[in-house]
Amino acid sequence: MHQSPRELTDLVAERTGVSVDPETCTMISAFNIRRRLTKQMVAGRRLLLGDAAHEVSPIGGQGMTLGWLDAVEVAPLLVQVLTDHNTAPLELLQPFQAFGRQQRSLAKTVARQAELNMALGRPMSPVAASIRDAALRTVLSTRMRHRFAQAFTMRQPLGGSEILVPG
Ligand SMILES: Cc1cc2nc3c(=O)[nH]c(=O)nc-3n(C[C@H](O)[C@H](O)[C@H](O)COP(=O)(O)OP(=O)(O)OC[C@H]3O[C@@H](n4cnc5c(N)ncnc54)[C@H](O)[C@@H]3O)c2cc1C
Repeated sequence: MHQSPRELTDLVAERTGVSVDPETCTMISAFNIRRRLTKQMVAGRRLLLGDAAHEVSPIGGQGMTLGWLDAVEVAPLLVQVLTDHNTAPLELLQPFQAFGRQQRSLAKTVARQAELNMALGRPMSPVAASIRDAALRTVLSTRMRHRFAQAFTMRQPLGGSEILVPG
């Protein structure tokens, strides 16, 4: 965790060779990488959505997208129960059960892919790094490179379907 602008600019210089003036920094913040997944998104008349339900590493830039997808999926279900004056616990209703299963599964897929992406970029020993680089070069020289690029940019995680916000 970097406490001061000076520590941060020193790190930038060390890793990139670029010198940044710490005096130009007006704010500094840090975050921890967390992975959490609720067991239940629907309980009684309550819903957990967004990061409250599933927190994933920010490396793939998908956390907010997952939250929006929760909202898009659940909004029509809520409209329906209100229209029907249905006062049953939501977890007993099939569409809400399916919603919970689908969104938890999506969050799991995204979290796994984000962790894989993080592992690929993690600092490692020179030997391990050269093995990783050789493996990556091999994959990127094959037709798998398009699939790999899609996975790395989180368009379609390996072992998961395409992440698209419904239009
Ligand atoms: C460095 C970083 C980069 C990211 N980049 C991306 C990206 O590029 N793309 C992307 O899709 N996602 C990204 N994310 C993830 C994204 O920021 C989160 O997934 C998203 O903000 C979650 O939104 P949320 O509304 O569910 O939760 P939050 O944004 O955490 O909102 C919850 C709110 O509830 C408030 N709150 C908490 N407890 C209480 C309480 N008891 N009473 C009242 N209010 C309360 C909090 O103060 C907060 O304002 C990134 C995250 C980080 C850390």
